[in-house]
Amino acid sequence: MSARGITFADVRRLSQQAGLDDIGVVAPQYWAEQADFMDGWLSNGLHGNMDYLTRNRDKRYDIRQLVPNAQTVIVALLSYAHSGHDYHRTMKSTLYRLQELLVKEFGQNIVSAENQHIFCDSAPVLERYTAIQAGLGFIGKNHQLIHPALGSMVHIGELVLQVPVIDTPEVEPVEKRCGNCTKCIDACPGKALGLPVWDARKCVAYITHKCIICQQVCPYNGSII
Ligand code: SF4
Ligand code: SF4
Repeated sequence: MSARGITFADVRRLSQQAGLDDIGVVAPQYWAEQADFMDGWLSNGLHGNMDYLTRNRDKRYDIRQLVPNAQTVIVALLSYAHSGHDYHRTMKSTLYRLQELLVKEFGQNIVSAENQHIFCDSAPVLERYTAIQAGLGFIGKNHQLIHPALGSMVHIGELVLQVPVIDTPEVEPVEKRCGNCTKCIDACPGKALGLPVWDARKCVAYITHKCIICQQVCPYNGSII
């Protein structure tokens, strides 16, 4: 076990060893801008029946309400190709592997003994927003997180640490790179895209969980169709 602090390079090295496709690091905070945006979106009913989004907003807007004394959020990406059918399980077991590697080098105290600290689509966490703050991509016109190299077919997970990660490079936000492309807007069967504000009620995936057309046509995913 090392007496030195965890560096960003350590997190990157061990995350590659664990099998993650990319990671970023952010300091937990209250995401005021996103909280204002979401409160407005929810009060206009644009979330349809996703009532769970109206609950636990204190935790969603500030992960320290979910994991007390959190000092670092490691945001991890795993491409669909590596995550298989049960992506919650694959992402979580990969994050547990990362945790194990970190604990082995830096000690058990880096994670909370009492609280859950590994998440993937399973808790009130602003996953896409946090990924953007960690410099992992931009939100495309299809409203997905797009990683410049991995595309949008990635799952997002988080490992929350009780210690800071030192030598974390200044995060350069990834600028929006859709340009003049409108492939996802043109292909969307629900005409859910290209509107000033995202309306979940028009999205077929939201209704049936069976549409990923706006990801399949995206050049960042290699334009599968
Ligand atoms: S998932 Fe389907 S319906 Fe929803 S925005 Fe994408 S293309 Fe449109
Ligand atoms: S299909 Fe084109 S417009 Fe839509 S998200 Fe991809 S790059 Fe952006």
